[in-house]
Amino acid sequence: MKFSVTPYELPLVVPFTTANATVARRRGLLVALADGKHIGYGEVAPLPGWTPIDADQASTILRGAIASVEAGRDLDDVLDELEASPEVRAGLSGAAADFAARRQGLPLARFLDPDSSETVAVNAVVGSGSPQQAADAGLDAIQRGFSVIKMKVGVAAPEVDIERVATMRSTVGALVELRLDANGAWDASTARRVLDSVAVFGIAFCEEPVAGIDAIADLGAESPIPLAIDESARTVDDVARALGTGAIDVVVIKPQSMGGPDLAMRAVRLTREFGAPPVVTTMIDSAIGVRHALHVAAASGATLAHGLATSAMLTEDLADPPRIVDGTITIGSLPGLGVTPG
Ligand SMILES: [Mg+2]
Repeated sequence: MKFSVTPYELPLVVPFTTANATVARRRGLLVALADGKHIGYGEVAPLPGWTPIDADQASTILRGAIASVEAGRDLDDVLDELEASPEVRAGLSGAAADFAARRQGLPLARFLDPDSSETVAVNAVVGSGSPQQAADAGLDAIQRGFSVIKMKVGVAAPEVDIERVATMRSTVGALVELRLDANGAWDASTARRVLDSVAVFGIAFCEEPVAGIDAIADLGAESPIPLAIDESARTVDDVARALGTGAIDVVVIKPQSMGGPDLAMRAVRLTREFGAPPVVTTMIDSAIGVRHALHVAAASGATLAHGLATSAMLTEDLADPPRIVDGTITIGSLPGLGVTPG
């Protein structure tokens, strides 16, 4: 069994800005695990502004971890020690899971959970922009077959966001599911005001209206709209704590930032225990990361639409991204991730 690492850079169609970085190229590391007969793939894709480390730092940590395994240490022990570098862990555990699934001839989703779904619903994302621009983008998504739209909020003034939601609802009609994601941008009183104002438009849930598990849970106790946790719950322990508050309705799980498919499935099992469904999403990963998230989504059995429609943001990719037809991805019967890079 041998690991190999290939750095990659994938230009974005439109550069995007996070809290403290502008990202024009998605940089990461493709990890392969092979034994001469079977091969498995994972990726390490830290996102500047979102994760504490960048691709260069991840590369150093990854190569050190691989050297430990090659020196004879047990992979599970090395993975345990990568708790503080979940993106690196995700690449190694992802490659190991894909390898094991291919060796058994099973799609990764089936390997992760025998009762995995055959299809996965996905949502469209509408970024910032004027109320009319957002509504036009929503209409375009509907025409492409999506029936769930997530709107990014919290960048414009609260009044503008309220108008954006109103315009979106009147444009796409009553049957489309609308979700909001504020990425923790609001303070508690702004969040309460906006959520109270948009509740009439039938919002399925709002991700991260305020920042932090406790702040979201406090708001959740009186919010007219169900609340979801995303970046405030990075680890399985965070997810357990958030669900333990009893005020979180939906949990967003990013296999890349949680440390890989095994830990993502641990979080999925917690959501089942607490009856708060998971939504599995990418971090604008390459097709390898998107497919890892896809298989976790299928293994979760959750019927909510998942956040996997991000491949169109990249001008190139490491492999074929999943095909989305009418807002749905079909898993198929190919073993592992179902795709080979290159
Ligand atoms: Mg989010």
